[in-house]
Amino acid sequence: MAKYDAIVIGAGNGGLTASTALAQKGLNVLLLERHNIPGGCATSFCRGRFEFEIALHQLSGLGTTEMPGPLRMDLDSLGVMQDLEFVEISDLYSVQNPDGFHITLKPNKEQILDELKNAFPHEKEAIDGFFDLVYQYANDMIGAFIFRDPEASREKYPNLYRYAFKPAQSVIDDFFTDPLLKAVLSVYWGYLGVSTDQMAFAYLAMILFQYIVFKPFHVKGGSQALSNTILNKFLSHGGTVRFNCSAERILTEGGTVQGVVTGQGDVVRSDYIVSNASPMVTYGQLIGEEQIPEKTITEVKSRQLSTSAFTMFVGFDCNPEDIGIHESTNFLMVNTDMTINNHDRMRRLDIDDELMVLSCYDVSDPEFSPEGACQTNIVTLKYGEPWLRLPPQQYLDVKYRCAEKMLQRVQAIYPDIRAHIEEIEVGTPLTHMRYLGHPLGAIYGFEQQTKNSLFFQPGRFTPIKGLYFAGCWTGDGGFEPTLRSGMAAARSITKQIDNKNV
Ligand SMILES: Cc1cc2nc3c(=O)[nH]c(=O)nc-3n(C[C@H](O)[C@H](O)[C@H](O)COP(=O)(O)OP(=O)(O)OC[C@H]3O[C@@H](n4cnc5c(N)ncnc54)[C@H](O)[C@@H]3O)c2cc1C
Repeated sequence: MAKYDAIVIGAGNGGLTASTALAQKGLNVLLLERHNIPGGCATSFCRGRFEFEIALHQLSGLGTTEMPGPLRMDLDSLGVMQDLEFVEISDLYSVQNPDGFHITLKPNKEQILDELKNAFPHEKEAIDGFFDLVYQYANDMIGAFIFRDPEASREKYPNLYRYAFKPAQSVIDDFFTDPLLKAVLSVYWGYLGVSTDQMAFAYLAMILFQYIVFKPFHVKGGSQALSNTILNKFLSHGGTVRFNCSAERILTEGGTVQGVVTGQGDVVRSDYIVSNASPMVTYGQLIGEEQIPEKTITEVKSRQLSTSAFTMFVGFDCNPEDIGIHESTNFLMVNTDMTINNHDRMRRLDIDDELMVLSCYDVSDPEFSPEGACQTNIVTLKYGEPWLRLPPQQYLDVKYRCAEKMLQRVQAIYPDIRAHIEEIEVGTPLTHMRYLGHPLGAIYGFEQQTKNSLFFQPGRFTPIKGLYFAGCWTGDGGFEPTLRSGMAAARSITKQIDNKNV
């Protein structure tokens, strides 16, 4: 019977970095992935002459060689940095509405201040004050939380203590009166999937700070190139991967992992397992709830699932500027309400005035699509429940009705797009559910409302000895945190092994 030093279940970001970091330490690692390609969300698919990016709009935390961000350091230590090419995205984001309002912010604090003051001169001082607070908050957060200052105190980090749990909306309301400006500054909720009155200010401050300081990036070749590169590094360290091969059971004895039964029916032994699957699947299906302490099950069930996404992938037979697309990241907005009212729209089986983001990779990387063509990934976040309740015979009707509405919204901003569509494909929460295996197609793990926020995250540890989690279910969703989560799981395992060997 085969025995490995560690088995990793799932080749999403967290699973890929966990398996590679373990193999890099000389461990004999088996990586199991139910899909036929690595990456989870971080993948692509082909239609016609286009290779469509599934997930990555803006990579955070990378930074430049002069100003390296945490992700660059992680990818460096994994040994993959030299095999990857990153494209710096020239804009932070643009916000547009059908009335003709259009503002573009560059990922540079001074330029952002100038642009905003130009568009909203009546809010000049408030704009300065708000960005000062964002930076002060981020610096407090980095000092106290990221560097785990043992002497952290209210006096040393006043902004952290004052603002961490305050809803982003109330901070914005304290500073500004103009609803349009408030909306422009909080559109990143369209990425996070948590409305500004439910979201801790910590998230808004950190996402703005991160993208401004470390710049937004994309990966040359798309997120699939990132996944392939990490997998290749894993293989170069002697790792073994099996695609089209799910983990069906995690074997335990006396509260300790023993191995895995694969979907191909064989038993593989190991003392260490990293699961990139959700706790619901890991505990409920792979192990069996009866073997998990009740407290853990209650804790998991008390958390809400994050949103999934409705995405339209469109390939055009022209360059972006031919259809009026001049920025990479475009938030398309109809109303300025970023609170729960807008959030509730994510529970509807319809598309009307939702906030949506249109990313066109070819703006910053003209080689992304074939010559003379370009592609967009248009997404609006949607919860999975209504889609799951939909009778199967209605699914296609609803899916294409939503797609048509989405197209109409996009056309209101870019009138010429329809005539240039060459390929089009649509993904719903059910698509994510099918390909990721996560309940309700959740793309960020648990919802990141204040009570489930970064201050109260479930983390990688489990009550089963030898079992760890990696990926979005350990904390925050998104590329940067999930890539890092796998490395953290690997560190915990190598520490355990080192302690055993002492
Ligand atoms: C449309 C969309 C847009 C996004 N935009 C951004 C963005 O711009 N910036 C950003 O930072 N993030 C973005 N994200 C979020 C980000 O992609 C995800 O949060 C992140 O990739 C999740 O990584 P993960 O490690 O949790 O693994 P996942 O991607 O969730 O993958 C889990 C893997 O485990 C496998 N698996 C599950 N169960 C089993 C089993 N039993 N056996 C074997 N394998 C199993 C699955 O097949 C899958 O490959 C976006 C996501 C989507 C879908």
